[in-house]
Amino acid sequence: MAAPIRIAIIGGGIGGLTLANALTYQPLSSEVATDHPGFEVHVYEAKSEFSERGAGIGLGCNAKKALKYCIPNANEMLEQAGGKVVISSLLMIGSGQHAGAEAFNLEPSAQNDANDGKTTNIRRPRLLDGLKTSLESPIQQRCSLHTRKRLARINPASDGRVEITFENGHVEIFDGVIGADGYRGPVRRHVLGDNADKEVATASGFWDCRNRVTLETAKKVFLRPVRDSLLARATTLAERDKVEQYFGTDFSCQRQWGWAGNGGFILHGMGDDDNGFQCIISSVEKEPWKERQRLFTKEDLKEHMQGWNDGPVFSAALDLMFIRENSGQTDDQQTEQDHIYGYSQWHHKKTSTYNNGRVCVMGDAAHASTPWQGSGAAVAIEDAMILSHLLWNISSTTSIDAAFEVFTEVRKDRCQHVIDSSEGTGSIMCAQRPELGHVDAVTGIVDLDPKLVLNALSARWDRIYNISHEDHRQDAVERLEKKLLRSIP
Ligand SMILES: Cc1cc2nc3c(=O)[nH]c(=O)nc-3n(C[C@H](O)[C@H](O)[C@H](O)COP(=O)(O)OP(=O)(O)OC[C@H]3O[C@@H](n4cnc5c(N)ncnc54)[C@H](O)[C@@H]3O)c2cc1C
Repeated sequence: MAAPIRIAIIGGGIGGLTLANALTYQPLSSEVATDHPGFEVHVYEAKSEFSERGAGIGLGCNAKKALKYCIPNANEMLEQAGGKVVISSLLMIGSGQHAGAEAFNLEPSAQNDANDGKTTNIRRPRLLDGLKTSLESPIQQRCSLHTRKRLARINPASDGRVEITFENGHVEIFDGVIGADGYRGPVRRHVLGDNADKEVATASGFWDCRNRVTLETAKKVFLRPVRDSLLARATTLAERDKVEQYFGTDFSCQRQWGWAGNGGFILHGMGDDDNGFQCIISSVEKEPWKERQRLFTKEDLKEHMQGWNDGPVFSAALDLMFIRENSGQTDDQQTEQDHIYGYSQWHHKKTSTYNNGRVCVMGDAAHASTPWQGSGAAVAIEDAMILSHLLWNISSTTSIDAAFEVFTEVRKDRCQHVIDSSEGTGSIMCAQRPELGHVDAVTGIVDLDPKLVLNALSARWDRIYNISHEDHRQDAVERLEKKLLRSIP
C-alpha cells in the first residue's frame, strides 16, 4: 500500500476542523477509491488554541446534513456541545407604524426526524471544542493539531508537492495544502496570484454589534419589557394569546426573533446550553468604513436606528447591549459600558478560482459572506463534505490538483449565490428597499410593510436549503472521473 496522502489544513476554525474530521473518519467503502492509501492530516492554527470568543451561530438543515456526512455522530456531538434546536424563527417589524407586527413565523415541519430539518444554535467555542474532541478519539490517529503556527508563505516544491513556511521559520512539505484560514488569511493570496489584489474582501455596507448576558439578566432588562410592550399593543385577545405563547411562561423557549426596520435589524434568542442570551444589532454604514471595527455609544446607535425609538424592542435592546458581560446579577452589581464595538461585515464579491495546482481555499478564505442568511459556516461545512469526498475518490497524489479543480467547478456558483443573496437579504431587513413600504417624504424614514417583506423574503432560503447533497457529491465525483480519464495520455 502506498504512503498516506499528506494534507495540510491551514486554519482551525469551523471549516478547517470539519474538514480534518471528514478526512480522518473514513466514509462508507462505496464512497472511497478502492486503492486509497488514507490520509495523514495536519491542522495548523495561528492562535494559541482552537477557540473563538463568544458569539452563537445557527446551523441550518444543509449545514447539519453536511456535518453528518463529515462526522457520523454529528447530532450527538452538537447536543453534547450544548446546541439547541430552534423551534421557530419569527420576523417582526421593529420600527414605524407597523412596529410589533409579525411578518412571518417559520416553524419547520417535523419531516424526517425532529432534529435534521431544523436549525441548531450553538456557541462557537463549544462547537470548535466538539469538532476538536471528535478528532481526539482513538481511531483518529492520523490527524495532528498544531497551535501557534502562523503560515507565512507557500512555494511549489520541485517534485510537485507544496512547501509551506511558518512565521517562526519552520518549513514542511505536503502533497496538498488547503487554506481554511478565513477571509484575511494568506492562502487566498497564493491561490489567486495576480488577481489577489483585485479580489480582496470588501466592506459590504453593513455592520453589527452584539452582547451576551445571562438569561436571568435578559429576562429583566429585555424579555419582560418587550413582551409587555407587545401585549400593550395587542388589539385582540388572539393577538395577546400569541404574544403569551411566543414568550412562554419562563421565557426560555427556543424561538429566534428578528426585527426588521428602518436602517437596522435586531436579532435575539440564539439560546444555548450555557444559560446565555445573545442579542445582535445590525445597521447600515453611513459611509464605507475603512477600518474593521468602531466604537459606538448609545447615542450613536440611536442615530443609526432612526424611527425605532417608539417601537417595542429597540430601547430594551439598547439597554441590554451596554451591560458589561459577566457583571453581576443584581442591579447594584451590574455595570454598564460607555462604548461597545461595532464590526464591519466584509465579503468577497468576486473570486475567480478556489484552486491553484495542489493548493486550494475553502470556507471564508474562498467565499466570505455577510451573516444575513446565517449560511457562512454552513457553506464551509458543505465545502468540507465535497472536498473530502473528492479526496477520498483519488488514489494518488498526482490527482490532487484535479480534485481541487473540480471543487472550484462545483462549489463556486453556489457559494457566490450565498454571498449575493445574503447582501440582498440585508438590504431588505434594514429597509434599504423603499418599494417594501412607505417612505416619509420629510424624514426619508422607510416604514416597512410586513406583507411586502414576507413576499420579498419568502423564496430566499430555497436554493440554500433545498439541495440534494447526494446529487452534489455524485456530480463532483463524475466530473473528477471524466477529468482524470481525459488526462490519461
Ligand atoms: C456576526 C456573524 C454571524 C454569523 N452567523 C452565522 C450563522 O448563524 N450561521 C452560519 O452558518 N454562519 C454564520 N456566520 C459566518 C461564519 O461565522 C463563518 O462563515 C465561519 O466561521 C467561517 O469559518 P472558517 O473556518 O472558514 O473561517 P474562520 O472561522 O475565520 O477560521 C479561520 C481560522 O484560520 C486561522 N488563521 C488565519 N490566518 C492564519 C495563518 N496565517 N496561519 C494559520 N492559521 C490562520 C484563524 O486564527 C482562524 O482560527 C456568521 C458570521 C458573522 C460575522
